[in-house]
Amino acid sequence: MNQVEDIVAIKAHIASIVGNGNVSVDPLVLCSYSEDASPFDGKSPALVARPENAEEVSLIMKCAAKNKTPIVPVGGRSSICGAPIPRVDNAIMIDFTRMDKILSIDDDAMTVRVQSGITWSRLIHELKEKGFKLGFRGPYGGNAGTVGGSLSANSIGCGASAHGGACDNVTNIEVVLANGDTVRTGSAWKDANPGIKSAFARYCTFNDITGIFLGDHGSLGLKVAATLKIFPLAKGVSYFDMGFPDAQSGVKAFHEIQKNHLAEEIVMLGDVNSIELLASSYRSTFPDVNCIFGIIIEEADEKIADIKKDLCEKIARKYGGKPIGTFLSKAHWLNMFNLVQSLFEEGFWYNTCHIRPISTLPALIDRFHEIAKKHELKKHNINWILSALGVDHCFTSGWITLFLKDKAKKPILETAWKELKEYEIEANGVPYWTGKLWEPYALPVANETFLDVMRKVKQALDPDNLIHPQTFMV
Ligand SMILES: Cc1cc2nc3c(=O)[nH]c(=O)nc-3n(C[C@H](O)[C@H](O)[C@H](O)COP(=O)(O)OP(=O)(O)OC[C@H]3O[C@@H](n4cnc5c(N)ncnc54)[C@H](O)[C@@H]3O)c2cc1C
Repeated sequence: MNQVEDIVAIKAHIASIVGNGNVSVDPLVLCSYSEDASPFDGKSPALVARPENAEEVSLIMKCAAKNKTPIVPVGGRSSICGAPIPRVDNAIMIDFTRMDKILSIDDDAMTVRVQSGITWSRLIHELKEKGFKLGFRGPYGGNAGTVGGSLSANSIGCGASAHGGACDNVTNIEVVLANGDTVRTGSAWKDANPGIKSAFARYCTFNDITGIFLGDHGSLGLKVAATLKIFPLAKGVSYFDMGFPDAQSGVKAFHEIQKNHLAEEIVMLGDVNSIELLASSYRSTFPDVNCIFGIIIEEADEKIADIKKDLCEKIARKYGGKPIGTFLSKAHWLNMFNLVQSLFEEGFWYNTCHIRPISTLPALIDRFHEIAKKHELKKHNINWILSALGVDHCFTSGWITLFLKDKAKKPILETAWKELKEYEIEANGVPYWTGKLWEPYALPVANETFLDVMRKVKQALDPDNLIHPQTFMV
């Protein structure tokens, strides 16, 4: 059979699994699946399938294994690093967004088991109605971003200051492997029946198999379900913003608050330009403020929230900070997944999101300003946002994005973007998601033994290299 006949036969087979309406070979549809929200190009897949449950995913994988056809898993395709776009010809794309259900809530172990294609916004909304919250609430793109996409790409975002990123909040995942079998990780190793009571703990008994699949960018298996930690909704919530004369003093206060684990969330805007973009009213009211952060405290009791708020304020004042209002913290928390929408007006996004030690932020900000000056970004109508979020125990996600408004300025933007990424990796930064954005910078400086282990795991789990081939250049 030639390739066209192959695809016709495979389409018929997959349609018999998912239904005719959930498989497409329409060129326009395929073309849209060759892109994510990054500036990178991918190859059009041969076919897109939208399964409804884990059994259908397993059957599709078995069909692909039999035909030695590559598979690329996708969630909301909201990646901004080129992670979900196919790198090889004739791939079958599995779109998980029909798998969007809460499967069960365990209010004993305080976990929620979900299908992997549920979006963060839907999950938060449904949990809230039942009196629960998540720890990590999702990336800023959580209206489209799915749990499966975030676990595959190490997402960091809302709620990360207290709870870490997506992967820190998972107790168990269920993954369809390259041969179509399904593995259930964590304490669910024991139970042949995937009942809700089996997935209460991640670390137990054997190796942490969950971790092998986290951050794999969909290259080791197809996540069909996940169990995440949940918490009771907070009774005491405080919001407040602090303003600082410069980034150095703001970062010192940010660091001390994060070290002491005081905030549910702490988010910083690191220069005047960023304040103008996301909290412009503060610029006119407080012209001497050049760096701000917003803090959200969530506690089971209002008095505890008030005490923590006072403590954070005291720390901020020690470093020259002053209270300026609640706009940023409230916008960040109450409007989480719509907060950054206004930035699309600034043009197409060129990101450099990564994590780094908090103390290294001022040097990064200074270096970025040198790059902006050298390439006269403002003169060329290239705007930017420079933000940071506390993450987990004590590091930060640095979020510098350049915005391309005028396509003619693309070469200037790309030169500055490249210099910034080189500096970020060189000076203590590591990407959390990788994709086409970071691979050329991360792989050349990766430890050879580390890469060797990664390749061996891939070879063992997917000997025919069928799942998302060429991710991490494998
Ligand atoms: C406006 C906006 C704001 C954003 N803010 C943030 C942010 O704050 N923090 C952050 O980390 N990211 C952010 N992102 C990027 C993106 O939203 C996240 O990385 C998100 O987690 C991607 O989820 P997704 O469902 O869209 O995954 P996709 O983009 O579809 O896929 C991401 C990766 O996961 C793999 N994958 C997807 N589903 C599965 C599955 N079921 N099984 C196996 N592999 C799978 C894909 O192959 C791909 O490699 C933002 C994006 C936008 C557009």
